[in-house]
Amino acid sequence: MSALSINSAGYEPSRDLPARLRRRLTQWQAVAPLPAHPPQAMISFTFDDFPRSAAETGASILERFGARGCYYACTGLLGQQGPSGPYFTERDIVHLERAGHEIGAHTMTHLDCAKASTHAALADIAHNEDQMKAIGVTQPVRQFAYPYGETHTELKRELADRFDACRGVLSGVNRKGSDAMQLRAYELGDDEASVARASTLIETAARQSAWLIFFTHGVTDNASPFDIKPHVLSTLVRRARDSGAALVTPSEALDKIMDAAG
Ligand SMILES: [Zn+2]
Repeated sequence: MSALSINSAGYEPSRDLPARLRRRLTQWQAVAPLPAHPPQAMISFTFDDFPRSAAETGASILERFGARGCYYACTGLLGQQGPSGPYFTERDIVHLERAGHEIGAHTMTHLDCAKASTHAALADIAHNEDQMKAIGVTQPVRQFAYPYGETHTELKRELADRFDACRGVLSGVNRKGSDAMQLRAYELGDDEASVARASTLIETAARQSAWLIFFTHGVTDNASPFDIKPHVLSTLVRRARDSGAALVTPSEALDKIMDAAG
């Protein structure tokens, strides 16, 4: 299998006017608005693609603070090498599920869902889910993350029948009215600015009782710009816990919001 292009390095979204307008429209067309405000501050740590270091180092850091993460699996990367080191193996999936982490879906080929037809995107997503089950995912797959964060309204509508929520990469916290089919999130990168921003966001989410989602890729000292160093993740998870926010997987967060909606 040829290596997949997975990071935003070298990735170019369509910049023509119709594509830009469509992106803007897509984010304001909430397909599945959250029906209630989060009953308490909640913070989720999530990993895309995902590198082995997220499954090993990342999971053990979260577990040390009583937290669990969500791992959005791109099965086309299974066992491959990438800029963040080796990608996950079947054993990682089994260990993560056993330890109570959530396994979510990405696409099979790291397809840009905004550039592909809805039909092609759905076929790719279905193929990925089949592969996930084949390699040992036993729990229902309730969460999806758009590669590069890209989507469009028609796809969001289709995916509302398949997943409880889909995560994008647009900045923001989630509260009543936020689109469950394009959840907002903040990237944790290796630069100091993103770490300082994350600390501020944790305080803000705690104060506003919002649902804050972080995403990154690998957890390694050989960090690419798309990864986070272990000691930095440790610091942020500790801050998140100490803020009083509940550290939850995306499905746990959704369940709490649905309970609050009654
Ligand atoms: Zn990805």
